[in-house]
Amino acid sequence: MIYLDNAATTRPLNEVIRAMRECMEGLYFNPSSAYAPAMAAQKALRAARKTLQIAAGDMECVFTSGATESNNMAIFGALRGRFAKAVTTAGEHPSVLEAHKEAAKRNGHALAIIPLQTDGSLDRERLQAELTPDVRLISLQWVNNETGFVHPIAEIARLRDALCPEALLHVDGVQGFLRLPADFAGVDMLALSAHKVQGPKGVGALLLSKKARVLPLLYGGGQEGNLRSGTENMPGILGFAEAVRRFKPEWPGDIRALKSAFLGALRGLRADVHINGPAPEDAAPHIVNFSIPGINGEVLLRALEAKGILVSTGSACSAHKKGSHVLAAMNIQKKYRESALRISLSPLNTAAEMGEAARALSACADELLPYRRR
Ligand code: PMP
Repeated sequence: MIYLDNAATTRPLNEVIRAMRECMEGLYFNPSSAYAPAMAAQKALRAARKTLQIAAGDMECVFTSGATESNNMAIFGALRGRFAKAVTTAGEHPSVLEAHKEAAKRNGHALAIIPLQTDGSLDRERLQAELTPDVRLISLQWVNNETGFVHPIAEIARLRDALCPEALLHVDGVQGFLRLPADFAGVDMLALSAHKVQGPKGVGALLLSKKARVLPLLYGGGQEGNLRSGTENMPGILGFAEAVRRFKPEWPGDIRALKSAFLGALRGLRADVHINGPAPEDAAPHIVNFSIPGINGEVLLRALEAKGILVSTGSACSAHKKGSHVLAAMNIQKKYRESALRISLSPLNTAAEMGEAARALSACADELLPYRRR
């Protein structure tokens, strides 16, 4: 099997699986209990938190059940009392977009959703016009999960400082974390997920700057500094920290080289490869979205699956809904939207897989393109 859907989720590293197993076998105590073994669990929890803090800028770290919860906590948690306006973008993951729509409905505040341009970038004029002094929350993803578009977070932080300094900047960092150089200056809330970076599913974090004061989503025993009650998901948290510790700085470069090798091989085989969104070299190292016009993406996905190659037509979260809201927001032509495929890589992929996947893809396309049929 060749697994090329790493933006949906990644295979955990063996070291991560080992750390989780060791936790469940030997360190299963409740970290809030008073005896020595529980203190050992508490110590491991502290070390895991420190690992995340080092990797993600020196912010407060609240462990959550994943980025969906982190994004919801950032959005609903920031609603301390009423405020006038929030700003987000049309390309966000549903855990941001849907949470914002619901928060605006409940709270009655204005919500501006910034449109995208064809390359995936924000409509800057609209953004600048919407960043009025009454904005209290801006939510923006670091990297788009469908196209790999990289948003200039530092630049948006500067715009916030200039135009609406009271606004908190919430970044959905899921697809950028450990794939791009970290620069979280000016970011107030950063949502992360373990399972996109060779960690386990069901665990994530929300990192908070000193300026970010949020209310909890969950009330109870007061764990996670009173911000996220519930007995800690120790195997998940320790697995997350292990994935971060095992990350190698050369991986993003390696992944980018794999992507180039895949696209080089595919373009060498056929001239009808159309890139959706940013140029691959400008995008995040691990994601590329492309079309072979005339072939339905879903049909090509199935044909590749029959050859043991797993890809995606877009976000796993919207796979069962109608089409991609991201490509639609980018005004990508229908013929490209219908044939879109997303390939997303991890450090566990190999150069040999890239050649094999490109050859298989091209062969499937030849079989499926009506005018190429015998
Ligand atoms: N944001 C982005 C950009 C994502 O790609 C994902 C996962 N598809 C999420 C948020 C949600 O993360 P989780 O699965 O940890 O809830």
